[in-house]
Amino acid sequence: MQDLFGNEIKPGKLVNGKLKKRKSEAAHETLIAVHGKVEGKKCRQCVFFYYVTYSKSYPKCLQSGCTGHTPNHDWSGRWQACGKFEEKQSKK
Ligand code: SF4
Repeated sequence: MQDLFGNEIKPGKLVNGKLKKRKSEAAHETLIAVHGKVEGKKCRQCVFFYYVTYSKSYPKCLQSGCTGHTPNHDWSGRWQACGKFEEKQSKK
């Protein structure tokens, strides 16, 4: 993606005082680019998807390297599963 002057906009760069993209979104795009997609699966179904819980729950991906305690590192269970996907085992 480029700005009005043709300069490349890097993920997470401030544009007009607003964060263009969360670090987790950029990390997810990188995982998809490197490992590909698993069609028909979402991150919430993956064993590496988990929640850090304090007074609220914050979704994270263990494979992303974005596990910091900030909303900038929050994952989404609705995102497309990447090639690192491993199905969660159902509890019996
Ligand atoms: S499929 Fe799993 S490893 Fe891949 S991005 Fe989603 S949660 Fe992370």
